[in-house]
Amino acid sequence: MAMKFPASGRWITGAGPVLQSTNPATGLVHAEIGTPSSEEIAQACAFAAESAAAKSWRDLKPHQRADYLHRIANGISHGLDDLAQAQMIENGKTLKECRQQAASAAATFRYYAAVCETMESAVPPSRGDYLVVTTFEPYGVVAAITPWNSPLTMEAQKVAPALAAGNTVVLKPSEVTTLPSLSLARICEEAGLPSGILSVLPGYGRDVGTSLLAQREVRMVSFTGGTETGRAIAQTAAKRLIPAALELGGKSPHIILEDADIDAACAGVVDGIFEGMGQSCVAGSRLFVPRARHDEIVDILVRKAESIRLGQPTGPDTELGPLSSHHHRDKVADYVDLARKEGASIATGGSRPSGSEFDNGAFYQPTIITGLTNAARVCQEEIFGPVLCVLPFDNEQDLVEQANDTAFGLACGIWTSDYRRAWRISRAIDAGTVWVNTYKQLSISAPFGGFKDSGIGREKGLSGMRLYQQAKSTYFSMK
Ligand code: NAD
Repeated sequence: MAMKFPASGRWITGAGPVLQSTNPATGLVHAEIGTPSSEEIAQACAFAAESAAAKSWRDLKPHQRADYLHRIANGISHGLDDLAQAQMIENGKTLKECRQQAASAAATFRYYAAVCETMESAVPPSRGDYLVVTTFEPYGVVAAITPWNSPLTMEAQKVAPALAAGNTVVLKPSEVTTLPSLSLARICEEAGLPSGILSVLPGYGRDVGTSLLAQREVRMVSFTGGTETGRAIAQTAAKRLIPAALELGGKSPHIILEDADIDAACAGVVDGIFEGMGQSCVAGSRLFVPRARHDEIVDILVRKAESIRLGQPTGPDTELGPLSSHHHRDKVADYVDLARKEGASIATGGSRPSGSEFDNGAFYQPTIITGLTNAARVCQEEIFGPVLCVLPFDNEQDLVEQANDTAFGLACGIWTSDYRRAWRISRAIDAGTVWVNTYKQLSISAPFGGFKDSGIGREKGLSGMRLYQQAKSTYFSMK
């Protein structure tokens, strides 16, 4: 029987088509998951709205709401291995990385418990005989729509602040990774969270996702995923006049300057693109190097890339597992073929690995491409796989122009021993996050989001809770 999901205050199998969940490391279907019909989506949203308005949720004091978040965090910590397994079996990330992400999800709930208890209302200066108090109110029902690459962290990043802010959440996970959301919902239930506060609606974006956003009870949407999907969601949100927080794609520049510690920089570049098989929105997929050091740097990168251990995600020594699906692996392979047609040289990788261990899984070799310009399609479009394009630059102005010559603006890395220069370049780059002499260093307490086509709004940090609240000013006459 298909797995159930929580909607309208109970776990149901759903009257929609059954979703098959496939393990990308083996190609085998390991679970069937129920999905909701359009009536069930409408009912779930109506119930979520009732739950948002119920005094038992709406009137909770911040410390009481924080208590729920602490209990959920403890539940995640206890269920860490199960959560990690649930993600690994669906998106192929190594068990080690999945465990780290589950631990990070628990930390996110703890952080927003603290934010919830300590965020203050405001008393703005009066311009007359009155007192004005600005409070921050929940929207009601928040639709959270998430991708498959890191559901454990992405979903915590939305659900924790949205609940802390007093909303109820209807979560639509990626059709590729439903199990982590179902596990999270179980943990929330066991933590005592009342039914209807968190619902999960599995299914495809084109039917469950669009139907969810059409429900009048949905008052805000928080989306992480591809830029084209984000654009479609923004159009729906604009028509409905509801706010949309959008965390979208990237094609982030990673920069090595002449005075960098080249070996440390190359290690950072290799991790920055290949960790998680490049399926990371902040993957440093375009590497800019001084023209005179190009060949030397490519040689080091190739050596490092070829020493990465591919294998089954459960293997204790495995550094990289498969891509998240066979379909996605084929898309990555098509991009590498396109690079060849565009005149690229493949410095390493460029094909599936050989060996019986890899035959049935969605594996692909870490790939380094040279010989193109930044205008090439593979340097402009998000591949979302283990593919690095190396591009030479001539001087700082040329570097900044090329780095910014992209539709995206999510992240950037700079390796140098000159912090003044790093600061100057950081200020000139269009990106929501810049790393200097490190890469992919992330903190729940720092705002995260994109410039340009990489998104609208900032998750994480204090602003990550304000995202799910609307300001209300109440005036008291003092005459
Ligand atoms: P996707 O856009 O295909 O899907 C994301 C989610 O949206 C899924 O749940 C999907 O079912 C749903 N969806 C699709 N069409 C929809 C529609 N019309 N209406 C409502 N929902 C719809 O993205 P993906 O392939 O799952 O994830 C990869 C993308 O996510 C990459 O572009 C990556 O850069 C991006 N991403 C961004 C961040 C960030 O924080 N900026 C983080 C992780 C991933």
